[in-house]
Amino acid sequence: MAERRLSHAYMLTGPEGREREDAARRLAAALVCSAPEPPCGRCRDCRKALAGVHPDVIWVGREKRDGDLRREILVGQVRRMTADAVLAPNEAERKVYIIDQADRMNQQAQNALLKALEDPPGHACFILCAASTDALLPTVRSRCVRAEDPGRRTDEGAALSDLAGGYLEAAASGDPARTVLFCMNRVKLSREETEAFAGQVRDAVCEILCGRAPDPGLGRDRLFHLAALMDKTEDYLRHNVQPKQIFGLLAAETLR
Ligand SMILES: [Zn+2]
Repeated sequence: MAERRLSHAYMLTGPEGREREDAARRLAAALVCSAPEPPCGRCRDCRKALAGVHPDVIWVGREKRDGDLRREILVGQVRRMTADAVLAPNEAERKVYIIDQADRMNQQAQNALLKALEDPPGHACFILCAASTDALLPTVRSRCVRAEDPGRRTDEGAALSDLAGGYLEAAASGDPARTVLFCMNRVKLSREETEAFAGQVRDAVCEILCGRAPDPGLGRDRLFHLAALMDKTEDYLRHNVQPKQIFGLLAAETLR
């Protein structure tokens, strides 16, 4: 069931570095996971994807020329990637292409990618990693499932209820990768923000259960599950578990 709900393109925004790389791996694991409720983190596909050795998780980045990295990702690279995407996966049910520094694709490269995003080969998924989406064509951006900038602060109530709404939307989509993406982009929240987030989600869930707000497609069982997860979140916070770990838990358990 999860298979039908997966999207073909995801946008992971955040500063370049180890953390974004890890997030991309976790997202890729959610996409290749062979367990009935991905991401399980334990199946062969998850383990290989997390270790960075899965043959169906392919990194695409700036190439070297004379020992130095080129300034841009070139159209030829994107064309090679999309030609490869047509071929069947080796082990998993789909192939995942992680485009690192997607914001370094020049216009031609982006246009070539756009063609693949508009008419994606059935088993191919693309993860675009970028510091910001400013350098990307609006047409490319609009084709990607994205989560807001992880650096975005949420001191205001309105922004927090947006966050709760975004979480419920991701949960209702049934797309495990989208849920992982949402959670990966929240690991920088402070303890207070995480606590407020959990409270907002629970309030929103109550409103839906009481019939005071429309159900975005979650259903009773899942709503109760999410309420229980928020209890767990608050419990963890009381025991000094870090938001980073908590959002890792939510990434894994939201769709259970
Ligand atoms: Zn798995």
